[in-house]
Amino acid sequence: MKITDGLHYLTQEQGGYVGAFLLDTGDGLTLIDSLFDTDGKKVLGAIAKMGRQPSEWKRIIHSHAHRSHIGSTSVLKAATGATVLTHEWEAGIVDGSRKATRVSLWPKPPREAYKLQIGLALGLGKHPLCKVDGTIKEGDRIGPLIAVSTPGHTPGCLSYWWPEKKALFVGDVVVSWPKVEAGWAGLTLDMAENVRSVGKLNEFAGVEYLCVGHGPPVTKDAAAVLAQLKKQPRG
Ligand SMILES: [Zn+2]
Ligand SMILES: [Zn+2]
Repeated sequence: MKITDGLHYLTQEQGGYVGAFLLDTGDGLTLIDSLFDTDGKKVLGAIAKMGRQPSEWKRIIHSHAHRSHIGSTSVLKAATGATVLTHEWEAGIVDGSRKATRVSLWPKPPREAYKLQIGLALGLGKHPLCKVDGTIKEGDRIGPLIAVSTPGHTPGCLSYWWPEKKALFVGDVVVSWPKVEAGWAGLTLDMAENVRSVGKLNEFAGVEYLCVGHGPPVTKDAAAVLAQLKKQPRG
């Protein structure tokens, strides 16, 4: 789905309506997150629909290394030759040298995401491992994007700001499914820190497209929604 010129959104149901974003960043194509293990074809199909070639793909970058966000990275890297960049803390999970930090099994809202919480609590499933070509940290420029460190959901969560498009990509710091809120309680390692990260994201003025990790992008009053989330009390 096209959000605006040069910005396309892909989703799938299995990973809690997890999102991936295909960006024509002028210097090639950039993919933010790669959906689930079985979604490689879907992403390649979206590129073809845009009338672009896999070889035009410059890089795959991650918001964080939970399975539904990195699942197809390996197959897409092989198909396109794209460079894989991720946060240093998350890199070991992507390449398989360590496991994602587990969460509690104790059910927390939203119940719609409990299946994913169980998966992370028990360490179920495994993404195809992928070599990481480089790391990203706060303030790095990736083409026209600016990387923002937004820990809380995981310690290595990164957001990306695209000033020309007024688009902010926030991974699971904010979700819009099943409702708009500052992260899912059951899958967020440190909610207080996550809320501080939402505060930090409010420093970017005039956000028009709030591209979240699960659920459709917020395209109506995005800046106001982000400001409201900063005030939302979270347990
Ligand atoms: Zn996550
Ligand atoms: Zn997620």
